[in-house]
Amino acid sequence: RSFGELNISRPLLKACQALGYEKPTPIQSACVPLALTGRDICGSAITGSGKTAAFALPILERLLYRPRRVPATRVLVLTPTRELAVQVHSMIEKLAQFTDIRACLVVGGLSNKVQETALRLHPDVVVATPGRIIDHVRNTQSVGLEDLAILVLDEADRLLEMGFVDEVKEIVRNCPKKRQTLLFSATMTDEVNQLITMSLRNPVRLSA
Ligand code: AMP
Repeated sequence: RSFGELNISRPLLKACQALGYEKPTPIQSACVPLALTGRDICGSAITGSGKTAAFALPILERLLYRPRRVPATRVLVLTPTRELAVQVHSMIEKLAQFTDIRACLVVGGLSNKVQETALRLHPDVVVATPGRIIDHVRNTQSVGLEDLAILVLDEADRLLEMGFVDEVKEIVRNCPKKRQTLLFSATMTDEVNQLITMSLRNPVRLSA
């Protein structure tokens, strides 16, 4: 398959080309068209499989074709570590370079005030670690999750291993019931399966 067959539009195809991607990886071929239908997905995928673009491309495509009436954060990506959040945010910015979609990084170690100001501008996509975003949800109330359309739980097994279970559950409870949830995990442990049961609706399972 080629990127052209994945039903993504020109600015995103152009970005893939600019990144030097010639064809989609297996997880991208499987995930992109399915995610575009709005289904919940749980993917067993490791770093290196191209999983970041596998969820970023359909997210960006859906944002492009569901124009917002008022500015609102529509997508939240949770990652277990600051390092991964930086990588995912950077990938999203690269794939969105020919669009007007704005992404914001919310992790520990950056100024809380600066992040609060950035969140109040309602970036379309927020990439965050659970500890830092929960602080904004609870305390600064600078991020509203009520208009969230898509929640991504990246490296879910590590999110749980790192002890973020309560934060992740609280964030899920604050998201609208009617949303799309995409979960990726290298391993499918009992704990991950519990999280899938509580946060995904009738998910399609993919592996790559
Ligand atoms: P990930 O698994 O998302 O961490 O991606 C691993 C690496 O593969 C990153 O450096 C991506 O830029 C790269 N990559 C993702 N998709 C493709 C593709 N379709 N063709 C070539 N490289 C890719």
